[in-house]
Amino acid sequence: MAEETARKSGFMSWYFQSNLLVRILIGLVLGAIVGLAAGSSILWVKPFGDVFIRLLRMIVVPVIFFSLVVGAASLSPSKLGRVGVKIFIYYMLTTVVAVIFGLISANIFRPGTGLDLSAGQAAGKALTQPKVVDTLINIIPVNPIESLAKGDVLPIIFFAIIFGISLSFLAQSRDERLSGGAAAVLKFFDGAAEAMYSIVRGVMQYAPIGVFALIAVVFAQQGAKALGPLGMVTLTVYLALVAHLLITYGVALKIYGLKFSRFLAGAKEAMLTAFVTRSSSATLPITMRNAEENLGVPRSIGSFTLPLGATINMDGTAIYQGVCALFVAFAIGQSLDFGAQMTIIITATLASIGAAGVPGAGVIMLLMVLNSVGLEVKEGSAIAMAYAMILGIDAILDMGRTCLNITGDLAGTTIVAKTEKAIDPEKWA
Ligand code: ASP
Repeated sequence: MAEETARKSGFMSWYFQSNLLVRILIGLVLGAIVGLAAGSSILWVKPFGDVFIRLLRMIVVPVIFFSLVVGAASLSPSKLGRVGVKIFIYYMLTTVVAVIFGLISANIFRPGTGLDLSAGQAAGKALTQPKVVDTLINIIPVNPIESLAKGDVLPIIFFAIIFGISLSFLAQSRDERLSGGAAAVLKFFDGAAEAMYSIVRGVMQYAPIGVFALIAVVFAQQGAKALGPLGMVTLTVYLALVAHLLITYGVALKIYGLKFSRFLAGAKEAMLTAFVTRSSSATLPITMRNAEENLGVPRSIGSFTLPLGATINMDGTAIYQGVCALFVAFAIGQSLDFGAQMTIIITATLASIGAAGVPGAGVIMLLMVLNSVGLEVKEGSAIAMAYAMILGIDAILDMGRTCLNITGDLAGTTIVAKTEKAIDPEKWA
């Protein structure tokens, strides 16, 4: 825990010595109260929240790169391949289940019904198909340094893995020049990865203040708007998020003999960080630390599956897409038939894969899902009005969905580590 490194004396010692999670929770609750009470007069605190996000983003690329090189070097290629296949299947399956949860919830609660925004333009079919081949090819970086500079996670993962594997091959070479050099480079990367984790611990000491500012701004801007029909859509999304958490992850973890309450206790710091930062990728350093330190997942697995998950596995976003597509249809007085809802399962899955792990990415991808069922957002149309309503409260929906997004990554990673018999049993005793 970060507390171990806390200063033992000094005028801030009460701060460093109190429980970090309690401090973060206090920041969260105070932020919500102050934001609602003070309204726009509290917006000056925004920079304090931005500082927190920037600090987290600062370490994302180095954390992924250094720890993945070390991780890949410590796994045999066949094991890496096995982990890769397992986590990919888990990520895809749970995302599809997530959309279904969203659709069920929306069919029960029918958010948007009665809003009666009159149906606008004739429905058009303008699905912009993501080019699957291009997405796959782009995983290979033409210039790894450029990918690092731009923070493109998938090409970074690709390069780090092959770099790590070649280092581990060379380290076993009989030629001493090769093995010595590779061992030295690996040691360097190991030290660098450790340094990044220690920066994460430091950044978390600032989290309570950052959290207060982030939440105060959200509530100052959105608080009152979330009432009425939007309250209904918020409720529908959140109920589906909780159902997916309890049922899908709860059952999946149980099947593999992992205690759900223990999992939640280990994941809570990352869940809370995701909730307030609304960014899977900004949360990644915390997610990786929680996996390793609290859930007993070896770095060799987590450093691969978690960055991948933060990029492509977004169950919360998938749920949200399902609910919001139905909300828009209900709001304009339409309902979507079974076929259209099947289409949503496919496009919402793709949209959640394609969404970046940054705040608000999901609401942009929602356009694609809406398009796929003929609900094209055109200026001045009723559909655009319904979409704008979602946009207005998106921050509140984003908090919950991002929280679930990273929880799904952690659940999958923990399960895969368990199936690899690589999990630290002491953390689960
Ligand atoms: N904010 C989400 C995330 O970072 C993505 C989204 O907007 O749905 O996971």
